[in-house]
Amino acid sequence: MHKTSEVLDVNRPPASPDVAPDSAWHALAPDAVLDALRTTIDGLSEREATGRLEAYGPNRLPQGTSRSPLARFLLQFHNLLIYVLLAAAGLAAAMGHGTDALVILAVTLINAIIGFVQEGRAEKALDAIRAMIDPHASVIRDGRRVTVGADAVVPGDILMLEAGDRVPADLRLLRARSLRVDEATLTGESVPVDKSVQSVDAGAALGDRLSMAFSGTFVTGGQGIGVVVATGAATELGRISTMIGAVTQLTTPLIRQMDRFARQITIAVLGISALVFAYATLARAYDLDEAFMVVVGLAVAAIPEGLPAVMTVTLAVGVQRMARRNAIVRRLPAVETLGSVSVICSDKTGTLTRNEMTVSMVVTADREIEVEGAGYAPTGGFRIKAGAPLDPASDPVLVDLSLAALLCNDAHLRQRGEDWLVDGDPMEGALLSLAIKAGHEPTAVRTSFPRLDEIPFDSRHRYMATLHAGNAQPPVVAYVKGAPERIFAMCSHVAALDGERPLDHRLWHNRIDALAESGQRVIAIARRPLEAGTQEISPAEVAQNLTLLGLVGLIDPPRQEAVAAIAECKAAGISVKMITGDHAATARAIARQLGLGDDPKSVTGQELDGMDDASFRRHALEATVFARTSPEHKLRLVEALQLDGSIIAMTGDGVNDAPALKRADVGVAMGGKGTEAAKEASEMVLADDNFASIVAAVREGRTVYDNLSKVIAWTLPTNGGEAATIILAILFGLTLPITPVQILWVNMITAVTLGLTLAFEPTEPGAMRRPVRPARQALLSGRLLWRILFVSALMVAGTFGIYTWATSRGLSVETARTMVVNTLVVLEIFYLFSVRYVHGTSLTWQGLLGTRAVLAGVATVVGAQLAFTYLPPMQAVFGSRPVSLGDGMAIVAVGVALLVIVEAEKRLAAAWGARHA
Ligand code: ADP
Ligand code: MG
Repeated sequence: MHKTSEVLDVNRPPASPDVAPDSAWHALAPDAVLDALRTTIDGLSEREATGRLEAYGPNRLPQGTSRSPLARFLLQFHNLLIYVLLAAAGLAAAMGHGTDALVILAVTLINAIIGFVQEGRAEKALDAIRAMIDPHASVIRDGRRVTVGADAVVPGDILMLEAGDRVPADLRLLRARSLRVDEATLTGESVPVDKSVQSVDAGAALGDRLSMAFSGTFVTGGQGIGVVVATGAATELGRISTMIGAVTQLTTPLIRQMDRFARQITIAVLGISALVFAYATLARAYDLDEAFMVVVGLAVAAIPEGLPAVMTVTLAVGVQRMARRNAIVRRLPAVETLGSVSVICSDKTGTLTRNEMTVSMVVTADREIEVEGAGYAPTGGFRIKAGAPLDPASDPVLVDLSLAALLCNDAHLRQRGEDWLVDGDPMEGALLSLAIKAGHEPTAVRTSFPRLDEIPFDSRHRYMATLHAGNAQPPVVAYVKGAPERIFAMCSHVAALDGERPLDHRLWHNRIDALAESGQRVIAIARRPLEAGTQEISPAEVAQNLTLLGLVGLIDPPRQEAVAAIAECKAAGISVKMITGDHAATARAIARQLGLGDDPKSVTGQELDGMDDASFRRHALEATVFARTSPEHKLRLVEALQLDGSIIAMTGDGVNDAPALKRADVGVAMGGKGTEAAKEASEMVLADDNFASIVAAVREGRTVYDNLSKVIAWTLPTNGGEAATIILAILFGLTLPITPVQILWVNMITAVTLGLTLAFEPTEPGAMRRPVRPARQALLSGRLLWRILFVSALMVAGTFGIYTWATSRGLSVETARTMVVNTLVVLEIFYLFSVRYVHGTSLTWQGLLGTRAVLAGVATVVGAQLAFTYLPPMQAVFGSRPVSLGDGMAIVAVGVALLVIVEAEKRLAAAWGARHA
């Protein structure tokens, strides 16, 4: 164990006089900060970090006090219907109906328990899913760069920042390169702030502490290194909000819609109940207390009290299923939206392709050279295209080009067993492998040509440059690599075996096209010698007089799963658009391989820039491939498609993608290569960066929507049938075919057991062969309303039919009522099987066998009904009587009849729909 006294308490101002007062780290010089925090630029040791983690606790804000279990349980009773029921129980007890009062109380209690358990399960599931996208941080420990969970960052850690990062703790900056930070979360200022390492005045306001980067803010550009000065609640963010991400939001537009609807029904039912009460006592001479109990039964039967809870569970089940398919939902409403997605705009590289790159061609002024080998393993030779093997050492241009590819590169190769892995950009990994094949040794080369300066890759400029000191002539060289058109514009000459020649643009553009048309990603590499003593490079310096060394063609095979997923989208009426920074010809070739059309229509970012809004919209709709685009185009694209009424899922990974991700109906961030900024802006995160996972999520989204409508389609008619039975009996002055306590029983036993099983329904077979559901289509469609009336009527007919049949044979009223209760339950069970398939027949083996949830639900209910019918204590409470085997069969036959009639209606409606479509 570490003793706390050994660890410096940095979250409080240190006592020594040479150190800043309360958190004035911004006013101190970097070295003073490092000293005060007992750390160096090489970072803490792992041991020290572990000790500090114990002393300061994890870098997390205290979780908002989520409601206590007791409070959550009591909240279950906070519901209009429950209040009515509790009042009714009180009244029933006062009027001497002790049993009735107890049954009513049991109903409310069971409701609350089930609601409590289900809600708790749903919340826990969502918490677990949230934990799957916990952020990471890049720190230096023991002199090496390592990735740790953001909650393991401790004061004194040296932390690296780059564009798209969410700053995980408060930092005093030690190095800042064009570092810009969006501090809106902290200061409300939406314009990003330029950071620097210069100390600022101790009294500076938060927004003016330019030498600091604060927890919870986002890096919008550049790079930086800082030392952690505060973590967790001690950060500035922790001071203003000690409760972030407090209580789970378990609601969505559909649930709110149903909540409202359930409340309207409740009020309407209470109104109707009052009328029925008046009618029963005044016109039908019921006793007051008898009428009262009838009305309570009616209210319980008609009010869909469990509906919102069951819908919440349905959503939570959907979220869990999506997570199992690598699609992690960050905002619950996305589960609904996913089901109606009509356009998926996807990045190409890494999402549609595998992002496992291999150099296959090098084109220099004199030669087209094929590169052998697969993956990142640096083994394989060179050969002249369709010709003899080539010794790389014999071709000085190839040697220079591969040297440049190695130096203008931030990736590292690592061998694990047989496999070679890349740390960093896969394309750069492939270039490293090329350099090693050509005879360079990365560590040695990097030491002899130290990097003096760099211009990092940016998807807007599409190139990267580095400046190196040489050990020979020329003394200083800039190496540049990037998109060929971009690099050609900077070049005046090209390196050849016999020296330099002027660059022939026409010839080289043809060479790009030839490589790109086979689906290869093309990179151009160039260099520029600079005067001795040059220490820095600017974009202006690399913009001209470069010497082209050659082109590199890389293959990045399409993901096989993506091919299948695209076919699935086509069947489901969803259009897929590919968005890439790559060359149009490359992108088109890959699109063809993916099955996006034989001659996919493409448009480039440059072409889009020159268009007015109308033609932009037309191209947005018609084109499949968007090439050489930058993130700004994504936003315009989403907006144009939304004007057309499309529901859009858009992928992204960089900080510049955030606006488009926010704007899209479903923003999809990459879990692997995505930045925190992109994840924060998204509704969903893909754990495997795979296009197929988006389609899987859409499929689950459609399933959730189906299941929600199934829950409604089952609940409302069964409630309606129960209620109508009572109302009709009173209206026509008949003996009640079912007593109030019995109605309470049916409700208690079926509402959750049977209705809830629909939350677990698997995807229907045709779910992805149906066209997209129109957005914002009301859940309560005309078709569903008709269904409710139709099935309610059938249930009334069934129950009255059984009752009349039983009494006409001289059976006692009690026995007849017992049969009615069983009939109601049997009808609900058979109707459940019908509802399981909205879009097809239920009369298949699969349909009749049901799911485990359905079978368990049915078994529970059947067991309960047997007890209700045959156990003496139950008979005492509910006034039930045993039913003969023959009568039992008759009841089941009524259930079968209902299933057949509803299936026939389904088929007729489908035929009618097909004829009128
Ligand atoms: P994508 O949308 O396919 O990921 P990018 O925006 O990453 O496209 O890249 C666009 C182009 O920029 C690529 O075709 C390539 O020519 C160039 N490029 C990509 N990565 C780098 C890099 N690390 N260094 C230099 N150029 C790059
Ligand atoms: Mg890329």
